[in-house]
Parts: sequence; C-alpha cells; structure tokens
Amino acid sequence: MSNSVAVVTGGLGGIGTEISRKLANSGYTVVATTFNKKVEKSDEWLAEQKEAGFDFLVEEADVTDFEACGEMIKQVEDTVGPINVLVNCAGITRDSFLKNMDESKWDAVLSTNLDGVYNMTKNVLDFMLSRQFGRIINISSVNGQRGQFGQTNYSAAKAGMHGFTMALAQEVARKGITVNSVSPGYIATSMVMGIDEDIRDELISQIPMQRMGKPTEIANTVNFLASNQADYITGANIPVNGGLFTSF
Ligand code: NDP
Repeated sequence: MSNSVAVVTGGLGGIGTEISRKLANSGYTVVATTFNKKVEKSDEWLAEQKEAGFDFLVEEADVTDFEACGEMIKQVEDTVGPINVLVNCAGITRDSFLKNMDESKWDAVLSTNLDGVYNMTKNVLDFMLSRQFGRIINISSVNGQRGQFGQTNYSAAKAGMHGFTMALAQEVARKGITVNSVSPGYIATSMVMGIDEDIRDELISQIPMQRMGKPTEIANTVNFLASNQADYITGANIPVNGGLFTSF
C-alpha cells in the first residue's frame, strides 16, 4: 500500500482534514486538493498537519473546472503514484428560499457539489479502469436524502450525488471499482458553525443523539469504505447522522 494514493477534494476542510488523516494512518499517500490559488492557506495547513505528524501533499484544482481536474489528476498519477482512492468531499452551501434564490446561488452549488463529482471521477476513471481497481467515495448529505428548507440547490446536488453513485457503481462493478456515498448529518465544522447559534441549537434538538457529529466520525466511515473490509459494498449510501434521518 505504500505507493497507493488517495486524493481527497476539499482535503483542507473540516471533514476533509480528518479523512486525509485517517487515510494516511491506513498507509495511503494522501493528496489533499484545494480551491485555486490559496497558497498561504495550503502552507499553513501543511505546517499544522506536519506538526501533528502528517506529511500530506496539496494540489490546487477548482472542482468546477473539468480541464483543471484532469491536469491535476494526470500530474498526481505521473509524479506521485496510482490513485486508488478518490474522495469527493469538496462542497459549498449558498442557502436561500427558492423564492429568493438567484441563478448564481443555484449554479455555484450545483457546479461545485455535483458537476465537481463528475469532473473528478470522469478524469480518474480511466486510470482506475486500467488497473482494474478503485474506490470512489462521495460525501453527500442527510439533506440530499430528506430535503431541507432553504436548500433546494444543496439538496438537489446532494441527492444527485446518490444517483451518480448508484449508476456508476453498476457500470464499474465488474472492473474492481466500488462507488459509494456517505451522508453526514450535522457535523461541527466551519460550514455548520457559521449558522446562527439559535438555529444550530434548534437543529441539535432535532437529532436523536442530541449532538452534532465529529469530522472523525465521517472519516472512520470513509476509511472503512476505502479498506478491503468493504470489498463487497458498492452503490451504497452510508448515513452517519446520529439518527436524524432513518430509512432503509
Ligand atoms: P468545509 O467548508 O470545511 O470544506 C469544504 C471544502 O470544499 C474546502 O476545503 C474547500 O476548499 C472545498 N471547495 C469548495 N469549493 C471548491 C471548489 N470549487 N474546488 C475545489 N474545492 C472546493 O466543509 P465541511 O468539511 O464541513 O464539508 C465537507 C463536505 O461534507 C462537503 O461536501 C459538505 O457538503 C459535506 N457535508 C458537510 C456537513 C457538515 O455538517 N459539515 C453535513 C453534510 C455534508 P478550500 O479549502 O480551497 O476553500
């Protein structure tokens, strides 16, 4: 596994950082990807991770840009090693009731959260097919399963990720590639801590476990799906939400 590479989009974010750490502990060389030209942020993050004992690589690519994703993936394949794991974790919210949602909010969320999954996965797929091995893990959301007030854009994009996951899983099941999604509930990262405190308290009161999840709880699930313990799991969605939404 020493030269096995895991690429984590949004790898510098709250959940992405923990995913990167777990995969590194499992022996992967981890390439965390970030949005364009945030060099100072990358350096700061890399230094923090180094202090905690993690040696990561950072690559820049806007997941909304198909060509940029392709170039980045080719460079990683050429200079770092075979990408055996792709975690599509980059995501944004631009919340608004549909009545007030202008096209820019719709487009930004769909192009980052959904087109981004296509742009990364399509570019990595030929490499995985050539080796007859791969693990693709898409970070969706409980709000893609149940819908959420003020999030028609986000709920549509995250539900779309499930459709993508189920369809691609069938296409590549015979080629040694699994495709799964993980649907976090509310996780204490800056994405959620940016919500007003009274609204956050209201959200927590609706969670049967009465607390938000931790990024490490999502990372554990991703790490499991990337491992050979999950070889027979494909086209699945694993909810990690404290009981907020239950289904079968
Ligand atoms: P963060 O905001 O901490 O991280 C999001 C990451 O996405 C950032 O690292 C950011 O990169 C990256 N990103 C955003 N836009 C782009 C882009 N165009 N190209 C490349 N990278 C981009 O959020 P979280 O860690 O909380 O969320 C991670 C994922 O989990 C998201 O997909 C989110 O929707 C999902 N999720 C989160 C939940 C939560 O409660 N926190 C609940 C359910 C799902 P950069 O560092 O360059 O800014």
